[in-house]
Amino acid sequence: MDFSWSDEQKALYQATRAFAERELNERNVERDHTGEFNLAGWKKAGEFGLHGMVIPAEYGGGGVDVLTAVSGMEGLGYGCRDAGLVLAISAHIVICEIPIWQFGSDEQRHRYLPKLCTGEWIGAYGLTEPEAGSDAFSLRTTARREGDVYKLNGQKIFITNGPIADVVVVFATVDRSKGAHGVTAFLVEKGFPGFQVAKELDKCGLRTSPTAELFFDDCVVPVENRLGAEGDGPRVMHGCLEWERACLMGASIGMMDYQLGKAVAYAKTRRQFGRPIADFQAISHRLADMKVRLETSRQLIYKVAWMKSQGLPAFTEASIAKLWVSECRLANAMDSVRIHGGYGYMREFEVERHLRDVIPGVIGAGSSEIQKNLIARDLLKD
Ligand SMILES: Cc1cc2nc3c(=O)[nH]c(=O)nc-3n(C[C@H](O)[C@H](O)[C@H](O)COP(=O)(O)OP(=O)(O)OC[C@H]3O[C@@H](n4cnc5c(N)ncnc54)[C@H](O)[C@@H]3O)c2cc1C
Repeated sequence: MDFSWSDEQKALYQATRAFAERELNERNVERDHTGEFNLAGWKKAGEFGLHGMVIPAEYGGGGVDVLTAVSGMEGLGYGCRDAGLVLAISAHIVICEIPIWQFGSDEQRHRYLPKLCTGEWIGAYGLTEPEAGSDAFSLRTTARREGDVYKLNGQKIFITNGPIADVVVVFATVDRSKGAHGVTAFLVEKGFPGFQVAKELDKCGLRTSPTAELFFDDCVVPVENRLGAEGDGPRVMHGCLEWERACLMGASIGMMDYQLGKAVAYAKTRRQFGRPIADFQAISHRLADMKVRLETSRQLIYKVAWMKSQGLPAFTEASIAKLWVSECRLANAMDSVRIHGGYGYMREFEVERHLRDVIPGVIGAGSSEIQKNLIARDLLKD
């Protein structure tokens, strides 16, 4: 086993972290209040090469391998205090670009990926529906083939980047009686007739990441915009889950690392009862707990990324990592608020924002309960 980063990976981490610290943190507190997406930061991230990092060069990307991508995402998570922007970037890469790259035709790859890699186009992923959350494949959005087009009818909810997306990977069923085997993915562009972004949703955290409901009313989608074959929906979904868990969680590691550094610095300087609060074992043990959660999370993510880089299936390992890291992030964010006392609860500092921002981690992309179901299913299979 080799736990060391290559020089290229170390350099990408440092460069991404420095770029994010310098360019992506303007007016964070204000934008969190108003719920404003950092479009200028998005464009700069495109120029820096973040959006296309993992996509092969022939489609306009940087073509880095998954381990290197994790180091870049960790740098982004450390340097960028705007978790909404980090989510927007991660979703764009992992659940829009990756499915197109992995399951798209060559024509689809050439049509969409170069614009997505520069960030000129923004991508999204529409799976969840009001009646189909954890039970995603019970979705009700239908796709009816009529000659050279499909007509999509239905509704999606909680879609990250929904209000600003140029193209959305939308899941619909061509035959509800087939269950998951009828679920099919489509590339729906914002201008397609019958496609409407209905409502931007107001969230308690990740406020700078725009989230929307989408409606499809006889939405006309050309047959050439089907992603994979009819019934390939589950394959498309599972194909990006491991990437999602490795890349998105890579940013989480950077965020936890940054947050721990802040908590340590605060505990060393804040004085009560005539000494730094770090002198109280209750506080230093809390810091130790945060460190243990950070390092165990890090090992799990690196392992998933390494397995993927070796071409090994990592589905259960990715579930273990998703479960552990998202729960650890939440616990660390809460500990950080406690260490900062009343200051940690005030909105002008970033401590409470971090707590609000990490809550969806235990809900989205398969909740903690769903991850436990998947891990148990793997354990109990014959
Ligand atoms: C900020 C944010 C961004 C999101 N972005 C996207 C996006 O870009 N695209 C997209 O498609 N979706 C997105 N989602 C949706 C997200 O994936 C769903 O919220 C998630 O899958 C859970 O579905 P649900 O909210 O309907 O909850 P439900 O499925 O109704 O779950 C409610 C509770 O019941 C539990 N539960 C459900 N089934 C089981 C079971 N079998 N065993 C044990 N417990 C169970 C859940 O764990 C949860 O605690 C986003 C959500 C959020 C909050």
